Amino acid sequence: RDNERVIPAPPPALDGWRHVYSGKVRDLYVPADTAEGGQPAHLLVVASDRVSAFDHVLSPGIPDKGVLLTTLSLWWFDQLAGADGERGIPNHLAADHILVGDEPHELIPDAVRGRAMIVRSLDMQPIECVVRGYLTGSGWAEYQATRTVCGIPLPEGLRDGDRLPEPLYTPAYKAPMGEHDENITFERSVELVGEDTAAALRDVSLEIYRRASATAEERGLILADTKFEFGFDAEGVLTLADEVLTSDSSRYWDAESWRTGTTPAARMASFDKQIVRDWLAAHWDKQGEPPTLPDDIVTRTRARYAELLERLTS
Ligand code: ATP
Ligand code: MG
Repeated sequence: RDNERVIPAPPPALDGWRHVYSGKVRDLYVPADTAEGGQPAHLLVVASDRVSAFDHVLSPGIPDKGVLLTTLSLWWFDQLAGADGERGIPNHLAADHILVGDEPHELIPDAVRGRAMIVRSLDMQPIECVVRGYLTGSGWAEYQATRTVCGIPLPEGLRDGDRLPEPLYTPAYKAPMGEHDENITFERSVELVGEDTAAALRDVSLEIYRRASATAEERGLILADTKFEFGFDAEGVLTLADEVLTSDSSRYWDAESWRTGTTPAARMASFDKQIVRDWLAAHWDKQGEPPTLPDDIVTRTRARYAELLERLTS
């Protein structure tokens, strides 16, 4: 594993936990008493303030990003746990992970409080379960060339940012560390994980998207697209894992701007890292190391993350 390539600072040493893996944004730990190479029951997932764009970790990070995104994930897990006769979506939080509003669990070290989750270690499925309710980003690029999104044919005349006739499930293969994730067809996902699991991933992803976008709409927000990851728990239950419905895994837009905006940029007034992507696209040719982010881009990005959390949860 070529982790050093992307990690700007070594992850903190944490009492009771041993560091085993760092992705671009998060650091994973197992209980310190886990045998070398052993399969632990639980993991500590720590969200850092690192921000990535175009597959590069940028410098500096966004202050408080780890806390803001973890708080949002925990809030969504709770929303999806099932109220008002809705089916509960099983999630990977350990039974003793105390939810938002309560004191964090005593096993979460002080150094990472507020940005760590104790989760059950799952048999992760190698599929990024993407759901798109609106046409933009890579979907828009493909549509312009072929009138399709991930091979699914769409009507003529759609514009960047338009709502799709219905939400689309467009899975991607979760490539091993360091490789690019690759869009795949539903049929390919059947080959990778089997027919029953592929269908279950699709159905639950669409269901979560529908529920979450209804919640977002009540708060004047559009959930344009998002990505989930799932794994099987020890009892074989398909379980929602990773972070959910955060501004790293999703695009959120302001609904009012979307309705009244006249340019794609105005319509897609966004609460994710589009500010960072746009600045980088204008100041970097994507060769070599990306430039340092200026203070005002960092400040504005932080403000957007904080505003999203506030608008959703308050
Ligand atoms: P990238 O740098 O491309 O984002 P990544 O997705 O591997 O790589 P992170 O998202 O930073 O890195 O790290 C989180 C990792 O933890 C992911 O690999 C994710 O699949 C894994 N993960 C999340 N929840 C669980 C769980 N409950 N059990 C096991 N692994 C999990
Ligand atoms: Mg990830």
